Amino acid sequence: MEFNATQYAEAIDDFLMKMERLSGDDDPDCQTAIEKIGALLRIAMVRVCFYMTPESELQGMGQDLCLYKNGTADMERFYHQRETTGSGNVVIYYIHQRAGEPDWSQHEVEKLQVLAKMLFVYNGRSHIMKMIEYLLFYDRDLNIYNLSYFRKHADKLISLNRIGEFTACYFDLNHFSTVNQQVGKERGNQIMFSFVNRLYGLFSNPEEELVCRIGGDNFITIFYKEHTDKVMRFLEGTEIGIDDSLQTKVLITASAGFYAIPENCRTSTDIVDRVSMANNVAKNLTAESSAFYNEELLQHVNDIALVQNLFPEALKHEEFLVYYQPKVFLKNYELIGAEALCRWQHNDEIIQPGRFIPVLEQSKAICALDFYMLDHVCRDIRKWLDEGRRVVKVSVNLSRCHFGNPNLLNDILETIDKHDVPHKYIEIELTETTTDVSFKDLKDIVFGLQSHGISTAVDDFGTGYSSLNLVRELPWNIIKIDKSFLKKNEEAPEQNRVMLKHIIAMSQEMGIAPIVEGVETIEHVKILKENNCFLAQGYCFDKPLPKNVFENRLEQLMA
Ligand code: C2E
Ligand code: CA
Ligand code: CA
Repeated sequence: MEFNATQYAEAIDDFLMKMERLSGDDDPDCQTAIEKIGALLRIAMVRVCFYMTPESELQGMGQDLCLYKNGTADMERFYHQRETTGSGNVVIYYIHQRAGEPDWSQHEVEKLQVLAKMLFVYNGRSHIMKMIEYLLFYDRDLNIYNLSYFRKHADKLISLNRIGEFTACYFDLNHFSTVNQQVGKERGNQIMFSFVNRLYGLFSNPEEELVCRIGGDNFITIFYKEHTDKVMRFLEGTEIGIDDSLQTKVLITASAGFYAIPENCRTSTDIVDRVSMANNVAKNLTAESSAFYNEELLQHVNDIALVQNLFPEALKHEEFLVYYQPKVFLKNYELIGAEALCRWQHNDEIIQPGRFIPVLEQSKAICALDFYMLDHVCRDIRKWLDEGRRVVKVSVNLSRCHFGNPNLLNDILETIDKHDVPHKYIEIELTETTTDVSFKDLKDIVFGLQSHGISTAVDDFGTGYSSLNLVRELPWNIIKIDKSFLKKNEEAPEQNRVMLKHIIAMSQEMGIAPIVEGVETIEHVKILKENNCFLAQGYCFDKPLPKNVFENRLEQLMA
């Protein structure tokens, strides 16, 4: 067929013009443009193959032009080879000639090369658009959406006035680094991916309900409000198969912050801020594994910021008070000791430790407070001794946050000795620990205190994890049995009592004195006596008392 230069120029113009406003290579406009040129150049088909890594594509790419007559064996072989080896950073244009036509002339081949270059620009551009979208909106490790996509999606739902149909949730997998250590990062990623997929399984519309990765083991998800309970239960703990046979399973749990999004929500930033705030509360500041964003939570978070900001000055101005809660010997109801408990006197208000201790435990601030308490207790004991009062042993709580301080023992001894307080008057209460590292620190400190004649008590016994190892391996003086053992468990009324009985018997057999805390009623006292436990602390006798009231109790002791 005679080559018509004018027609060709027109077709090219048309093609270029359309290319300007094309967005995808499956665009029908583009197809017609190609077909037009195709008719002029006797093309049966154009096939484009990308052999590209995403990075090389962004850096710029090479191209090959392969011209074929239809159906030659050579061509098939070439295809096969390139597609199976598929290597090299290159785009290949396979341009097939119509069947039964004579070979392209040199002139036509030049035009075809121009066409290939245009296709290259066009394809490259739309490919790069896709790449950019991928880089912007996908997590590369798991190949799922990321936070930017979450924002885009949420903003779209806001603009459609549909955001009120959804709940958002920020979740953070617990101990996932341990899973990674056990199975390697790649398997770890697969497990994470399975977890995300299972979560998708709870949704009814994966176009609108999404799970997006923020980074590491942090995710954000949005789903219809009616799925909230299911998602919450799922995140509390779900078993995922570790290996291909799915025989070995790992329990994945997460801390989660939820936000039932109101209709009037304005921006995706509000959503992200609120779910992450709720997650932070769930993760660090409550015993629960999840929290919902609401006014109360906001108040709680403001309180936290307030505590953190006010603490240094409050410590300097000695706003923290030592309250003393008596410990009682049940055979004669005599005061035999006390626990020092902290109260914060701020602007004429007495703030309970539940409102500030967990916040201070988030940072090392709690260590400063514990030493402040020990220092004030020693100051008080020194004063009482100097006044000639009878003094009882006072126990001071030491947070776990001290572990890792190599001078802990020395710091304790220095504080006590500074006030010249005999070591027999001080007891240190420590809670159980979960990790091996802190177990070693705990061991060192308990042995160290023992060797200096300072008594040690394991606090809240029975609520932690490694209770039995803990008592077997460390020379404790006292086991403080947690108050929960006195509570009636509705489902198994006898369970707590039976456990209490055995814990008391066990500690006595091991030569460690048991004391029960939270003794509130005569009935509780009776239970302790029946089980031969004669040390008690609780509201049945006294609440934690301000120093002057406690001094009166010491006074009575002398009489
Ligand atoms: P804890 O060490 O287990 O202290 C015992 C808590 O139980 C005290 O609460 C006490 O007031 C309360 N309690 C005593 N008798 C009864 C009772 O009969 N019934 C009930 N329901 N509760 C009773 P408090 O003083 O509010 O202290 C709470 C926690 O705050 C303490 O628990 C301790 O973990 C922490 N804490 C208090 N002061 C300090 C401190 O100086 N340093 C550190 N690290 N933690 C402290
Ligand atoms: Ca305690
Ligand atoms: Ca306790």
